Formats: sequence, structure tokens, C-alpha cells
Amino acid sequence: MSFQSSYLAKVYEQVEKRDGTEKEFLQAVREVLESLEPVVAQDPSIEKWGIMERLVEPERIITFRISWVDDNGQVQVNRGYRVQFNSAIGPYKGGLRLHPSVNLSVIKFLGFEQTFKNSLTGLPIGGGKGGSDFDPKGKSDQEIMRFCQSFMTELAKHIGADTDVPAGDIGVGAREIGFLYGQYKRLRNEFTGVLTGKGLTYGGSLARKQATGYGLCYFTQEMLSCMKNDSFAGKCVVVSGSGNVAIYAAEKATTLGAKVVAMSDSSGYVYDANGINLDVMKQIKEVERARISEYVSRVEGATFTPGCKGIWTIPCDIALPCATQNELDEESAKALVANGVMAVAEGANMPSTPEAIAVLQSNGVLFGPAKAANAGGVATSALEMSQNSMRYSWSFEEVDNKLHGIMVGIFHNAFNAAEKYGMAGNLVAGANIAGFEKVAQSMIAQGVAY
Ligand code: NDP
Repeated sequence: MSFQSSYLAKVYEQVEKRDGTEKEFLQAVREVLESLEPVVAQDPSIEKWGIMERLVEPERIITFRISWVDDNGQVQVNRGYRVQFNSAIGPYKGGLRLHPSVNLSVIKFLGFEQTFKNSLTGLPIGGGKGGSDFDPKGKSDQEIMRFCQSFMTELAKHIGADTDVPAGDIGVGAREIGFLYGQYKRLRNEFTGVLTGKGLTYGGSLARKQATGYGLCYFTQEMLSCMKNDSFAGKCVVVSGSGNVAIYAAEKATTLGAKVVAMSDSSGYVYDANGINLDVMKQIKEVERARISEYVSRVEGATFTPGCKGIWTIPCDIALPCATQNELDEESAKALVANGVMAVAEGANMPSTPEAIAVLQSNGVLFGPAKAANAGGVATSALEMSQNSMRYSWSFEEVDNKLHGIMVGIFHNAFNAAEKYGMAGNLVAGANIAGFEKVAQSMIAQGVAY
């Protein structure tokens, strides 16, 4: 699709010219620019103030060497990134990803998306993202610790409780945040809320671990209720992934009366017609850090199929992709539609390809895009920052209630923005527009630095 606005066409062309090899970043930029067509058409100040040109260029990109020593005494070298994308509405905020697929394109797409997502939460947080191509799989605790300490030794120069507050993402959970936090404290001699997702004994927030998955289900429940007068009760659900987001999405969907019949990891997926036993799944993935295929040796009747894509051929009413980017393609979307799926909501970041989204939307499937549907994690991270600033902690119920209110609010903001600009029901456009407006207004108010 080409752009109607010559301004947006020019901005996109410039990004292609500068960053043409960054395919994930280009994909994310194109989707946002396309949905902002009607906003740009109505508001000349966006072009006048160079908002789009500035939004697609990170404020700062930091890349650095992370050297560490493995258990055999060998020196290992990885590459670290922190992309400080946009600080118009608050300190940079976004997770750290440790996965061999991490490169600048992946971190930039995540940081770009994060800017709009964080704005949608209604909380004062800017957009950022970071990580490394380090692969945590198969590493000992000692190796993870040495890597995290080396990573933080450089990262500490660029972050701070009022500057940039990283959190977890793929490959970064409570263990890694603990090692990173310990090193930051050692280097700076200060106990501040510089990271979120911390352990509960040293400043973490109750319900942060559950927040992205629970928030995804609160968003989906509101979408089902408002757009189809329906709910999770009695529905069959497929969840991809079996990490932090997937496990707590499956837990909340089950609590809301659904049956989750399949989950996956990067090796394949398990199917359990009786509903996934989450105690067994948590033991395998959270405690033992083992492969998902273990599940079938512990639960009678369950099956394991190698390869990830096949999970979308399992008939379901609701699909929650919660693993990684571009995991749900056009063919998978067609399979879901053929099996009568009624709603797809994204727990992972950009898990659906543009072609898949087009198939789902054109077939009347409710579609909750990541930057709205998975914003519960970062929203609760912002609540963790508030609690750290106050040196106080809220109960699980208090945080969970706030999270629920935030997710319901995000759904309605996206829904109303889509309606206002003549795209009723298109939550992709609605989320992009609603997230954009506050950031753009703040950038205009703060002027351009010459
Ligand atoms: P985890 O590391 O806890 O889990 C990731 C899961 O996805 C694992 O099951 C992993 O399988 C699978 N996975 C990762 N990479 C691939 C791949 N290339 N192909 C197939 N499967 C893969 O990460 P999270 O649950 O934290 O994150 C999942 C998604 O949710 C990401 O897109 C992340 O950006 C997004 N997200 C996370 C938030 C959070 O609060 N944690 C907040 C908002 C979004 P395996 O174990 O085999 O690697």
C-alpha cells in the first residue's frame, strides 16, 4: 500500500533510505504511519513541527561490547544495545531482551512500538528498549550472573530512576533482573527504582510477574464484551509461548472460565484436550527451565508436535500469540479463520505479520494489537516505579485492580480513536492514533532543539 499523504510518503522513504536493512523496524514504522493518515490529514501542525521525522529517529542509540568469562575460563563477547527512543512524556521505559536473534532492527522496532504503548497506558513513561544477542539457554547461574554484571557495567552509565528504567523481556526474568540490579547498586551506591520486575524482597511490585498475561486477558475480555457481547467463559483458547506472558495469560484465561488446550516453546507445541495443567507447566518452564516436550511425560493424553507454526491449526475460539515477532503469518491466520476463531489478541510484540492481520480483520475476527493488548506489563512496571518513589508497596489486589482499570481504559481509548477517525472497530489504527496523540502534543509543546 502506498501512502496518500506526501508527507508520510517522504518520511517513510527517508527511513527506507537510512535503515533499509532493518526489516522489523521498517515493518513497525509502516504500520504506524499507515494508520496515522487521517490524523496527519486533519492536523497540519504534525508536519510543521516535524513530528513524524523525529518519531522515527531514536533520541539515542547505545551499542557496546559485553565481555565475560564462561565456566570453562573462556572469554566470550556479546553485543549490547540500549535504544532510548522517545522521552517526550517521561523517562525511557522498556525491557531488555536476551536472545540470539537480537540485533539493532529488533531493538529499534521494540523501542518504537514501546513509545506508543507507554503513552496508551496513560502513565508518564517514554519509550526505550535494549538487550543483547547473548543466549541464556544452557548457561549456568554463574555464567548468567557474570554476563549480567558485565552488561550492567556499561548500561549503568546511561540509565537512572528519572532517566531510563529497563525491565525484563524475552530471556530476562527475576533472576537476571536481580543480578543486574545488584551490579547497578554496587557501581552507583544507591538504592533506587532503576529497574522494574525486581524481586518482592527488594522493591518489586506484587502482580508485576502476572501483569502482561493478566492484562492481555482483561483487554480481551473487554473487547469481547463491548464488540461481541461475549466473554472468555466456555471458550477454547490457544496460547503460543510458555514464558512469562504466556503462562499468566493462560492462568487468567482459565480463571475467567476458558479452557487453554495448547502452548508452545521454540521447539514445538503441546496439545492437551483436557486443558493445560498450569502447575505442571510452571514447574517445567519456571522452575526447571526445561523443554515443553517434558509436559507429555507428566500429563496423560497430552501430545507434543515439533515446530511452532502448527499450533495455529488447532481449532480454537480465541488465539493469544505470546512468544515472539512474526510468529503468526498469513497461512496461520487463514487456518485460524477456517476453524472459526472469533478473537486474536497479541501478548507478544508484533507476533502477527501485516498479511495475517489483514486476513483476520477482513474476516471479522476481533483483533487486539500488541501495543494495546500487552501494555499491562509496562503499566505495572510504572506502578512499581511509583511504589519505589513512595518507598511503599500496594497489595496484590490494589495493583491488580489498577491494572484492570488501565486495560479497560486502553481498550476504550483505542476503540474511540478508531471510531473518531472513521475506522470503527479497527483497534490497530485506534491504538496507534491514541498512543500517538499524547506524544505528538508533548513534542510540540517542548519545541525543537536546533
Ligand atoms: P520469555 O522469555 O519468558 O518467554 C518467551 C517464550 O517465547 C518462550 O516460550 C520461548 O521459547 C518462546 N520464543 C522466544 N523466541 C522464540 C522464537 N524465535 N520462536 C519461537 N518461540 C520463541 O519472554 P516473555 O514471555 O517475557 O515475552 C514474550 C513476548 O511478550 C515477547 O514478544 C515480549 O517482547 C512480549 N512482552 C513481554 C512483556 C513482559 O512483561 N515480559 C511485556 C510486553 C510484551 P523458548 O523457551 O524455547 O525460547
